[in-house]
Amino acid sequence: MVNTSKHPNITLMTYSDIIQFTGVTGEFIITVRKNPRYVDERKCTGCGLCTTKCPISVPDTFNRGIGERKAIYIPFPQAVPKYAVMDKSVCIDCKN
Ligand code: SF4
Repeated sequence: MVNTSKHPNITLMTYSDIIQFTGVTGEFIITVRKNPRYVDERKCTGCGLCTTKCPISVPDTFNRGIGERKAIYIPFPQAVPKYAVMDKSVCIDCKN
């Protein structure tokens, strides 16, 4: 994943979904929706400090509910890029 993120001919679009896909080989038209992280990617260093301050714990979906993660979390240790994501569905907006 790290090598892919650094490849000059690849634009890595993480935390995104393909919304529409048309065309044929060599002439694809793809519509991509970039999902909001609610974290400023220019400022996040991936240190994980925010995850230690968050009071909300929920089942860790990356690990199929085994263990917990916080409302703000880094999806998994080797995430590329390593940015935190805020889960707005459980965040209580406590401003920690
Ligand atoms: S504002 Fe939301 S994500 Fe941030 S610490 Fe509070 S509950 Fe967690």
